[in-house]
Amino acid sequence: MDHMTPDEFRQAGYRMIDWVASYLERLEEFPVLSSVQPGEIRAQLPPSPPLEGEPFEAVLSDLDEIVLPGITHWQSPNFFAFFPANASGPAILGELASAGLGVQGMLWATSPAATELETHVLDWLAEMTGLPDRFRSDGDGGGVIQDSASSATLVAMLAARERSTDGRANRTGITSRLVAYTSTQGHSSVEKAVRIAGLGSDQLRLVPVDETYAMRPDALEARIRADRERGEVPSIVVATVGTTSSTAIDPLGPIADICHRYGLWLHVDAAYAGTAAVCPEMRWILDGLEGADSYCFNPHKWMLTNFDCDAFYVADRAHLIETLSILPEYLRNQATESGTVIDYRDWQIPLGRRFRALKLWFVIRHYGVEGIRAHVRRHIGLADRFADHVDAHPEFELAAPHPFGLVCFRHVDGDEMNRRILERVNASGRLYLTHTVLDDRVTLRLAIGSPATTEHHVDRAWELISGG
Ligand SMILES: *Cc1c(COP(=O)(O)O)cnc(C)c1O
Repeated sequence: MDHMTPDEFRQAGYRMIDWVASYLERLEEFPVLSSVQPGEIRAQLPPSPPLEGEPFEAVLSDLDEIVLPGITHWQSPNFFAFFPANASGPAILGELASAGLGVQGMLWATSPAATELETHVLDWLAEMTGLPDRFRSDGDGGGVIQDSASSATLVAMLAARERSTDGRANRTGITSRLVAYTSTQGHSSVEKAVRIAGLGSDQLRLVPVDETYAMRPDALEARIRADRERGEVPSIVVATVGTTSSTAIDPLGPIADICHRYGLWLHVDAAYAGTAAVCPEMRWILDGLEGADSYCFNPHKWMLTNFDCDAFYVADRAHLIETLSILPEYLRNQATESGTVIDYRDWQIPLGRRFRALKLWFVIRHYGVEGIRAHVRRHIGLADRFADHVDAHPEFELAAPHPFGLVCFRHVDGDEMNRRILERVNASGRLYLTHTVLDDRVTLRLAIGSPATTEHHVDRAWELISGG
């Protein structure tokens, strides 16, 4: 058995960094959407693993030959699908540093820097995005990095479940009929969370939306009252800032008032759009957040920090910790017993955790707050530019407001036409778009989010889309 010596690692490492740098230089040469057929990648791999070790060269060359053709290029300036998953030089290097240290930060004691840097950087993020003070770690609240917004929603729901049952659910399982609420535009992770948390899909209410696709508080209140009258126990509302279909913004203030009146937990999911609040002129999107119990957004979507990195905040960390803390003998240690440190294992589902704060710290220090603001503003400006193209064309129309980097639009000739456009542009390999359905109509989504996207790419995308 041969370990890679530090010097061999150094040589292979330089080559690996060169490989990534050259990939980033060549991004535009690849068809954005991979065109391999199902099974095509596996067919090129040996059925059994190598018995003896192979040279690093061989692995690197298969990365080009076998893996790259099966990659959809998320960092391409012509990637306009879903929401972006920004990466950046400093984030990639932060990830490398984390892998190099190889720490598992489940407890403060298992690497004090992993915990303290995370607490600190999440306070920075709270300041950068203007979050209410109650989410900062110097009061009763605080932030933690989860892998994804889906986990944040699940963790919030478990804390809500515990609060709504006065601490019984953890011991006895759910015996009351708890109810969760989100809008018809809420993310599918809310339904997944009600299944996992044991409420059951039938206990999720999809609240109707207004003409901007935002949750209607009057409809929310009516559902809560009706559920209470039937003996159900309303437990949590998941409101969205920047829905996945169309970036609609639920009115947090009125929703928070209702939650307080009826004793519900309010979780706010701003997975994509939360990054925009780094710009003071966009802070209005979080109006009313001071009434929420928890909040999350994904730096891994729009804040230049490669997947995975979700920033999750609670106003009262005691609820979260009571819900998720279990202390077996083998994890006991002096720092934990002293009560003066944070053990982030109590803030998440798994025990073990990666040192994710490093990449965020690298990103914030490289760009500075102003650099991240400029990145967000550029994308919002490009979305406005694309929307102007749509607006000026007699056969296309805007389908929803576009406060961020996403534009929802459609051809006026109906669903068939829009499906054909989608198929045609995606098959061209020159860009990648996805769709949604709004008001029962097929709607095209152009999400601008790659750091490399410029006016030129947006104009060319429009030519391709409109040039049937
Ligand atoms: C993308 C998205 C999610 C899911 O994000 P993950 O981090 O992949 O779990 C949840 N909610 C909204 C509103 C989203 O846009």
